[in-house]
Amino acid sequence: MAAPPAPAFRLAFPGNGIALSHAQKNMQLHIAILPGDHIGPEVMDAALPVLEAALKRGGHTLRHSTHPVGGAGIDAAGKALPDATLAACAAADAILFGSVGGPKWESLPPAEQPERAALLPLRKHFKLFANIRPGLLPKTLLGASPIRPERIPEGIDLVCIRELTGGLYFGAKHTTTLPNGDTEAVDTMVYRKSEIERITDIAITTARARRGKLLSVDKANVLECSVLWRKTVAARVAATAPEIELSHMYVDNAAMQLVRSPASFDVLLTENMFGDILSDEMSVVCGSLGMLSSASIGAEKNRHGHPFGLYEPAGGSAPDIAGKNLANPCAQILSAALMLRHSFGLHTEAGAIDAAVQRAVADGFRTADIAFGNPSVSTTEMAKAVLERL
Ligand code: NAD
Repeated sequence: MAAPPAPAFRLAFPGNGIALSHAQKNMQLHIAILPGDHIGPEVMDAALPVLEAALKRGGHTLRHSTHPVGGAGIDAAGKALPDATLAACAAADAILFGSVGGPKWESLPPAEQPERAALLPLRKHFKLFANIRPGLLPKTLLGASPIRPERIPEGIDLVCIRELTGGLYFGAKHTTTLPNGDTEAVDTMVYRKSEIERITDIAITTARARRGKLLSVDKANVLECSVLWRKTVAARVAATAPEIELSHMYVDNAAMQLVRSPASFDVLLTENMFGDILSDEMSVVCGSLGMLSSASIGAEKNRHGHPFGLYEPAGGSAPDIAGKNLANPCAQILSAALMLRHSFGLHTEAGAIDAAVQRAVADGFRTADIAFGNPSVSTTEMAKAVLERL
């Protein structure tokens, strides 16, 4: 029997509706760089030359300015998202974000801590309603996944589309003391049909660019919001994309199936909290956080007519390895590629970066997180290997 074809590792390019051939020539990209804390600046410094080289190759120019955010924002200007940083982001075409947080700021009140006080306001301010997280595990890195290699012989290639500005995280919340002295905390899950429709549109575009399969995840056996979710997704797909093969799954089953057969997933669509949990599970299944990127895009367009977006590695600031030149820069590099794709329509340049990362890994360049005890390279050596393969 012939061997099954290797996955093509299609990265999603949804949302902007712009075909590959329509990318503009000689573009001037204006990007706000927010490196953040600990490994954030290290991986950002490693990623920028790769981004610059890819753009130069395509005849484009990069104009960027760097601004403090997270703990660095607190130290520099008293808050995680300084006004000047927000203003610089508003003036840019896209934001390339590192990662924020660390022990130094953990004793602050929760609402002032780097992640919560920087990322949530950025998402809210720029109405970044769609989170796109590719989950990629190439065949060359099977050992990085906790899943047995025989269950994923061809690797993993899926995309999670998570609604990012609705649901429990943004609904009304309060904690009160009841007359009997007990304490009650309330979070409210709210979804509107229009919110579900616009995220479904992103998922449809993603599915069209891949295998034409879409799995919508909900908890429609228990939650009103999920009943509306399922009904709306089904109606939207039937009305606008009947060629898409749509299926539905309860979130508890999806959590199990992601571990049992991650390779069977393609495009996964889900609401905010379920997506938060499932996309993190997906990251673990796909191996190191150091290889996974993410995009958060909104309805607003930038000067080039593409969605404004924030692009960042899936992992955090990794204080345990910061300052040692150990961090894997690939997630940051791949985030820059996602940015070129979604916020600039530069699919060729984005594809070149994706391919260079895959080649560097296939050629045996591994930072410690993906070396499994074998000799490893540093952050800067890994980035150099990617750059050389561009
Ligand atoms: P983490 O993602 O920073 O680290 C988890 C593990 O993954 C660590 O062992 C770390 O060394 C490893 N890791 C992460 N990125 C890596 C990379 N690029 N290369 C190699 N290894 C990598 O999660 P954590 O330790 O729970 O959190 C640390 C800090 O990061 C906290 O302050 C947390 O709030 C913050 N955080 C920020 C973001 C964000 O900025 N979006 C996301 C998650 C966590």
